[in-house]
Amino acid sequence: MRRLLLTFCAWLPWAAAVAQTPTSTCRTCVAKGCFDCSKHGKQLRLEQAPEVTCCSVAAACKVCAGALATDCRECSNPELEARLAERRQLAATFVAHRQQDAGEPATKQPFLFLQTTHYDLTCGLEAATVGRDKIDGHQRMHLYGQRMEQLRTLFLQTLELPESELPDRLSIYLLDDARDHGSIGPRVTGLGNAGSVSLKLMGPTYVYSMWQDRRSLPDDAAVHRNVLHGVTHLLLAQMPPSVWLGNRKSGWLDEGLAHWFEDKLGGKCTNFCFEEILLQQVASFKGGIWRPAVRRLVDDGKAPTFAVLSALNSDELSYEQHAFAFAYVDFFLAQGGGKFRDFLRAVKKGEATRDALQAGYGLTPLTIDARFQQWVKDNYSLLPPR
Ligand SMILES: [Zn+2]
Ligand SMILES: [Zn+2]
Ligand SMILES: [Zn+2]
Ligand SMILES: [Zn+2]
Repeated sequence: MRRLLLTFCAWLPWAAAVAQTPTSTCRTCVAKGCFDCSKHGKQLRLEQAPEVTCCSVAAACKVCAGALATDCRECSNPELEARLAERRQLAATFVAHRQQDAGEPATKQPFLFLQTTHYDLTCGLEAATVGRDKIDGHQRMHLYGQRMEQLRTLFLQTLELPESELPDRLSIYLLDDARDHGSIGPRVTGLGNAGSVSLKLMGPTYVYSMWQDRRSLPDDAAVHRNVLHGVTHLLLAQMPPSVWLGNRKSGWLDEGLAHWFEDKLGGKCTNFCFEEILLQQVASFKGGIWRPAVRRLVDDGKAPTFAVLSALNSDELSYEQHAFAFAYVDFFLAQGGGKFRDFLRAVKKGEATRDALQAGYGLTPLTIDARFQQWVKDNYSLLPPR
């Protein structure tokens, strides 16, 4: 009807005046200057989510080319039109760049790409059931964009860090096929593949590449924990001064914090790192429910001492020591995120753990054991959480 009216108007002498209507008075678009693109159906909500800046599925739209809106033809708003053009250009550039970077997928299923406020994602994940909903690969990519932004926000809140302390973008590859991870992973991280489930590069650029090996990552919840764990390592490495703690005898801090976020947002801990490579064990430690296991070992007098735990690299930790690394981080975070942030900073700067512990907590590697173990007895139940 609108189109018809417009065509009709063009014949009238005042048509030119109509075309000049300022947006603020345009009744056709209710002064918005544009319309939501009608080609995205229910998925428009995904594309308009606040964290999303570009999506390759939206960019492929023949009507809006990723701008998600079409210009109102009955009013003039050059500023808005320029903004829509800019959005189309951004989407095209992002997709082309990401496409070139990923290369051709091993299977016929094309890669999808998503840019969010702080992440660049390449996604080959297939449809999955999440909760009660069956979602397709495109929806799943958006879900990961949202989940990773949520992790970053929680990371900042937990450690009471200002936004400026995580300045770098993170690049993430979520793949379904081992061949894709095998060709992309080593190239984007500069590390060997060695049949890994995932690879990560922890500075000066921050990259995580993984594939969903269904033997060890049977469902979306397992993939979610895997990505939470891996990306937490990237965030911690990025926090200034940007160094990776895992090979500086502070594996307990690096792994402990990754487990802590895995538990916090994913419900249990099921990932273990060997240097930069994350090994996915089919048999996990205590089903990933670690608080009761730690409590049991403390009760039985089998807890590792802090002196031993705090002198190991990530790849030197046993499963049990991973669980204690998690519990120590839990213990420290219970005393305040800002305090733990300062402790982490000191260790990242190269201060001896002993000195940082004394300065931050008034504890020594000898006095901390009793304090920690009492805290475990006061806070961890022997029963698994309901
Ligand atoms: Zn209008
Ligand atoms: Zn999308
Ligand atoms: Zn569209
Ligand atoms: Zn790890």
